[in-house]
Amino acid sequence: MPDVPPRAALEAASRLAIDALLGGAPALLALADRLVAAGHEVALVGGSVRDAILRPQAPGDLDLATSARPDEVLAALAGWADATWDVGIAFGTVGARRDGQQYEITTYRADAYDRATRKPEVTYGDSLLEDLRRRDFTINAMAVTLPDRTLVDPFDGLVDLAALRLRTPATPEESFADDPLRMMRAARFAAQLQVSVAPEVRAAMTAMAERITMVSAERVRDELSKLLLADRPRPGIELLVESGLADHVLPELPALRLEIDEHHRHKDVYEHSLIVLEQAIELERAHEPTSGADLVLRLAALLHDIGKPRTRRFERGGRVSFHHHEVVGAKLARKRLAALRYPNAVVDDVAMLVELHLRFHGYGSGEWTDAAVRRYVRDAQEQLVRLHKLTRADCTTRNARKAAALRRTYDDLERRIGELAAAEELAAIRPDLDGNAIMAVLGIAPGREVGEAYRWLLERRLDEGPLGPERAEAELRAWWAQRTTAD
Ligand code: ATP
Ligand code: MG
Repeated sequence: MPDVPPRAALEAASRLAIDALLGGAPALLALADRLVAAGHEVALVGGSVRDAILRPQAPGDLDLATSARPDEVLAALAGWADATWDVGIAFGTVGARRDGQQYEITTYRADAYDRATRKPEVTYGDSLLEDLRRRDFTINAMAVTLPDRTLVDPFDGLVDLAALRLRTPATPEESFADDPLRMMRAARFAAQLQVSVAPEVRAAMTAMAERITMVSAERVRDELSKLLLADRPRPGIELLVESGLADHVLPELPALRLEIDEHHRHKDVYEHSLIVLEQAIELERAHEPTSGADLVLRLAALLHDIGKPRTRRFERGGRVSFHHHEVVGAKLARKRLAALRYPNAVVDDVAMLVELHLRFHGYGSGEWTDAAVRRYVRDAQEQLVRLHKLTRADCTTRNARKAAALRRTYDDLERRIGELAAAEELAAIRPDLDGNAIMAVLGIAPGREVGEAYRWLLERRLDEGPLGPERAEAELRAWWAQRTTAD
């Protein structure tokens, strides 16, 4: 745990961070003025306060809490916001945008969850403190009231944030009984913020893991995606697995914890999968530094071997085989991701990558024919670049020579793919006029001369790029005239 400075020092630092945030968001103060002028309270809350203190940078959406009811928020912002919309009026949240900045303004909550249906029943409250008490973690239960910029931190979230520690405002048992999704959120924050969950939080997650089944697949999926899209997802994944949450939301993952052989010579498949995920994330950055985190690649990396437990066979001589685990794995991935309500495109792409992740190993030391290389490209379709990354990431041997050899072999495959692609694009180039057009333009019958004209036009096309039919026709006539005179 990091050394935590005294609270006074943390408050001073957070004041600076909040001033910096507000300095960069003058419209936020104007928005607050409107609500206050109409007799309401308003405060910056939740993720906005946390992130401002933790990682000062351009804020995303700004989260606000207010005593105003949603219709009063809409009335106060009329004529000021460029647009307003209901994020979920049912949840008391109004969205607003001005000059490209988005705001989510939520009426104070005093909700009680219906513990039978898990549906949050929204009741509005009148107090900021009560609203904060209902939030998931102490680091998310801080507010800065506006316009006076008072930090409201009833649960010592500031200290937890400095200690990178995840605690709940009330007991974790009460909190997770109210909304079991918070257990997934704990794992998500462990990944995103690199916070460690307090022992009592971990204990409650472990004891109550099964209750996650009461939460809708869509809510679980959204937290899982945020977890996987973090810079370093490992601690979040490990928490899911160790607490037993993964047994309910992604059971194929804990099932990977098998010893490959009785000699314990190989890393188990679970640890291998985590390393493949981490290596895939490295390649994501190395290859396309501007593109963001890639959910499909990360899911494929994490799940690529989930067919192994089902296909494991102990062969003679102490060997272990996993025949067709890529096919079985693709099926399992498809089923699981569909159950988590991922969009069809995500399901299809991940399943395809899982199914193809071993194909490269047939390449040996480069014996594939051009036809085999073409088939690899055709079968991977749009997923080819991801397949390159997944296949490269899937090498976790500690033997540096072996790893370098595999890398070189894959370089060689990529080079051949590039050469073939270039050559075949060239091969696909046609002259501007086809044989029929040539015969019509020159008034000649099929024969040797048509072929000659065709090849001449093709050379012109390769030299000049596309000529267009008119210029091609004019040049063809000129060539023909000059050729006949020359004869
Ligand atoms: P991010 O926006 O990066 O996903 P966040 O912390 O802002 O992170 P949101 O889901 O936007 O998360 O929620 C905003 C705030 O609402 C949180 O900071 C937290 O205070 C509160 N909150 C969100 N979901 C829950 C929940 N299930 N139970 C209790 N409080 C919640
Ligand atoms: Mg947020």
